[in-house]
Amino acid sequence: MGNLQSSVSTYRGRFAPSPTGPLHFGSLVAAVGSYLDARFHHGKWLVRIEDLDSYRQMPGADSKILKTLEKLGMEWDEEIIYQSQRHEIYQAALDLFDRQGLIYHCTCSRKEIADSSIIGISGPIYPGTCRNQISAKKQGALRIRTHNHPIKFHDILKGGMSQRLSSDIGDFVLRRADGIFSYQLAVVVDDAAQHITHIVRGADLLDSTPRQVYLQHVLNYATPRFMHLPVVTNAMGEKLSKQTYASPIDSSNAVSQLVAALQFLGQEPPSELLRSNISLFWQWAITHWRIEKIPNKLFIQEHSAIRSNL
Ligand code: GLU
Ligand code: ZN
Repeated sequence: MGNLQSSVSTYRGRFAPSPTGPLHFGSLVAAVGSYLDARFHHGKWLVRIEDLDSYRQMPGADSKILKTLEKLGMEWDEEIIYQSQRHEIYQAALDLFDRQGLIYHCTCSRKEIADSSIIGISGPIYPGTCRNQISAKKQGALRIRTHNHPIKFHDILKGGMSQRLSSDIGDFVLRRADGIFSYQLAVVVDDAAQHITHIVRGADLLDSTPRQVYLQHVLNYATPRFMHLPVVTNAMGEKLSKQTYASPIDSSNAVSQLVAALQFLGQEPPSELLRSNISLFWQWAITHWRIEKIPNKLFIQEHSAIRSNL
């Protein structure tokens, strides 16, 4: 790139929460990490609400999350997209897979799959029971055929990664039997639609990345760069989530929550920052963002990274 162009950043990052509950410390870390990396690179930061699965949602959580981000001084660029409003777009992608003969209907029940498969890194490995069934009935879930050539990608923190989809995951679901499009499909379609160049998110999604890279290849999409941040766990080692009763972020205490997230990410904010305001906080955090300092771990306990001398 020449000197003239290099001042114009093409970096496009995003934060893509599922509105299953209010923002907690775990989702805050993903929000802060993706925001800082985007702003450090003079890039754009987009927010997408991943509200595909109506059964798992908490009504009003989307606006609560957005309000909290605003109170924390995190400003997003461009319009927010809601996955619940994009069914036609996901269906069009499914049609593309269909035309290539890559998807098939699967009528196996959860129990049948559990009984006939071995457990892989991401749950039961679907044994391909319905793969070659010529079924007249177009019902059940839609799965995509996988192959066993290694899918490789580079993670900015973890380095080279590789996974064989057939043996590690199995043919995976793109649309559930109840009609709900899968996270894997929607995230790939939307990251491409929003021209995302950098995906910064929790390492709990590291195992999903090869599935997404595979879909990107088939759809002829560019593969973005990935950076998977350590995941916050509670004292029991469980990922913070609504299921593990993570407490919501208290935005009346904005700066101290942000400082805690920054420390979790291995950055070393000076103690004065705790007594400053949100705008000074971001000024410091953006200019001092150093990815070399992010701990190279998959999981870190919530309070262990936080220095007690602040
Ligand atoms: N919606 C997903 C979640 O909240 C994150 C998706 C992503 O960042 O790719 O876990
Ligand atoms: Zn099946």
